[in-house]
Amino acid sequence: MTRNLASLITQMTLEEKAGFCSGDTFWTTKAIERLEIPSIMMTDGPHGLRKQAGEADHLGLNESVPATCFPSAAGLASSWNRELVRRVGEALGKESQAEGISILLGPGVNIKRSPLCGRNFEYFSEDPYLAGELAAEHIAGVQSQGVGTSLKHFAVNNQEHRRNTTDAIVDERTLREIYLTAFEIAIKKSQPWTVMSAYNRLNGTYCSEHKTLLTEILRDEWGFEGIVVSDWGAVNEAVASVEAGMDLEMPSSHGIGQRKIIAAVEQGQLSVEALDRVVERLLTVIFKAVDNQKQDASYDQDEHHQLAREVARETMVLLKNDSQLLPLPKAGKIAIIGAMAEQVRYQGGGSSHIKPTKLISIREEIEKSAGAAEIRYAKGYQLEVDDNDGLLLDEAKQAAAGADTAILFVGLPDRYESEGYDRTHLDLPANQVELIEQVAAVQPNVVVVLSNGSPVVMPWLGRVKAVLEAYLGGQALGGAIADLLFGDANPSGKLAETFPQSLSHNPSHPFFPGEGDRTEYREGIFVGYRYYDIKDIEPLFPFGYGLSYTTFAYSDLELDSDQMTDQGTVQAKIKVKNTGSRFGQEIVQLYVHRSCSKVLRPEKELKGFAKVALEPGEEQTVTFHLDKRSFAYYNVDLKDWRIESGEYEILIGSSSRDITLRTVLRVQSTEEIVPTFHRNTTLGELMENPAAQSILAQMPGMSPSTEATETSEAVSEDMMMATMRDLPLRALLPFSGGAMTEETLTGLLEQLNQAVRVSKNHESE
Ligand code: BGC
Repeated sequence: MTRNLASLITQMTLEEKAGFCSGDTFWTTKAIERLEIPSIMMTDGPHGLRKQAGEADHLGLNESVPATCFPSAAGLASSWNRELVRRVGEALGKESQAEGISILLGPGVNIKRSPLCGRNFEYFSEDPYLAGELAAEHIAGVQSQGVGTSLKHFAVNNQEHRRNTTDAIVDERTLREIYLTAFEIAIKKSQPWTVMSAYNRLNGTYCSEHKTLLTEILRDEWGFEGIVVSDWGAVNEAVASVEAGMDLEMPSSHGIGQRKIIAAVEQGQLSVEALDRVVERLLTVIFKAVDNQKQDASYDQDEHHQLAREVARETMVLLKNDSQLLPLPKAGKIAIIGAMAEQVRYQGGGSSHIKPTKLISIREEIEKSAGAAEIRYAKGYQLEVDDNDGLLLDEAKQAAAGADTAILFVGLPDRYESEGYDRTHLDLPANQVELIEQVAAVQPNVVVVLSNGSPVVMPWLGRVKAVLEAYLGGQALGGAIADLLFGDANPSGKLAETFPQSLSHNPSHPFFPGEGDRTEYREGIFVGYRYYDIKDIEPLFPFGYGLSYTTFAYSDLELDSDQMTDQGTVQAKIKVKNTGSRFGQEIVQLYVHRSCSKVLRPEKELKGFAKVALEPGEEQTVTFHLDKRSFAYYNVDLKDWRIESGEYEILIGSSSRDITLRTVLRVQSTEEIVPTFHRNTTLGELMENPAAQSILAQMPGMSPSTEATETSEAVSEDMMMATMRDLPLRALLPFSGGAMTEETLTGLLEQLNQAVRVSKNHESE
């Protein structure tokens, strides 16, 4: 329905406009009945619906209506499956419609800077490209059902410690390349209806008051068309927020924000036009939501449970499988050990915690799938404490010793990781580690199944044959684990984050979570595999890694051209073949490597990925599309993305540490930077520029390659050249024996700058 928003706004009083900028209740916007402006409801998100029927809170304490609990983002990202993530979004959209929800608060796209962050389970990856691509699918899926999303938490919200006040100090290039890119991809591809501003500060300014973030980057640069909603309680000063580009303060501030906005308008501090723009944006989204509401919408709970099981299977990562212990035969004796087989950990704590429509324990699902296998269960440890329980340990050892295989269910209890606080170490609880050690001493065939939202260290890894990382698998985790353990499904997940050997290897380690309210991101762009690669540190399991019950072979990497400009694109094609005897899915990864760069660059960066399903013996061609951004870095002087002209390697691998094919592409920038030479430009910099070089060559005594390279025993030619290269032009004054004066230097600089401009113009003609 088309409405005349301008006319509506003119009919609103200042009080109504100011009041409109904050919520009515915990989850709703304000209605203005006399003007027939309705209220809409939003709710968490991201991997299930948390519609609170009774009293509202934002920590998931009070009951919500039942909804399907899908695997959380850490797992979803490990599927690397765009289509699957979109289907999850569609299902979430349908459930939202059925519950009358207009905006689902998610997905969360913050980068996993440290594995300690208590909310990592809700975030996708340490890599911005992967996170952005998957978030875009999630958003497109939900919004295809006429329900909005809220891309959160914008931006640089990478820790829970002091999350309401901490100041993330990040350099501009790191901000653009690592912490903003995922938001940028998701916004440009899928236009979420809303973006949620983060609690924290960024370089001194609260994100909810950050004009550069909320207006200049988000709207002016990326073209975001929706509204910015504050995280719950994130507003510091309501007027500063409105001025910066924030539209809706949530939840209701019970008139406080409204009074401040009215006063600011009356005192001329905030213009009515600025307030009107906010109101117009709010009305646009509210009416879009209302127009898209589907009366009598419903969904099939069983169907969504089945989808949750299918999704969960793809989110789990097989980390180790010695002697092909897995898949297990549905025969013989199996010991299921560990409290987590019964008290399953399937979702994280905090605002995303939902009430599932169904929950069956892992033990029960394994018993259902086990066929002729004889199953014995032992609890092994108390989930609520870290202390060993001798009786439980003895019982577990006995069960394991009498079986052909022992499957140990361990992981992080709720008390270890949650929204609101960060972990301080990467260990499993001590009683679980003891259980693994003791069982491994009596049983050679041990499978460990982990339920956790973020990496753990595994000092026991050498003593077990198989490890399945199940992450937080949602309400159908039990069925999915059974499917994978018995081979009814083939594992196809790969890690979307690095598992380090120890916490101290993590790049943010000494700087996380900062001092007081100051968190300096000193590792810069070297986050996740970008750091482990450049420092040559062997991770426990690298980014992009995961095993399958079948094998794949890659061949025939071809580019449709061996060169491109920054205005063009290139297609890379490769063939992937299933060389094993089972159906399987492979995640093919494309990385870009730049050697001899003038700017700091990671060893490689993910710029493409695809998941292919292959029957035994089947071969398929996978195509990747590369464009300017696949090769660009953020140039802080020009405040733009730039390419360095030159050669780039295109790497194809099954993980970040298993590169099997490579080829070279020449990329030419059409936006070559025209240098400005000055007194402190070095001779070396001059010599690199052909136009400058020819001028220098005409000046006697100026070319480092001619008279200036007289050497002696103490001064080698290389040393002489290096010294000359680094010499600033002004140093020619004392070193030229009087030949170079201030006047001749000024003249030379004019001549040089003129020459590079002329040569640049010729190039572009
Ligand atoms: C969280 C958000 C959430 C909101 C509403 C906040 O504490 O940071 O992610 O959407 O509460 O529950």
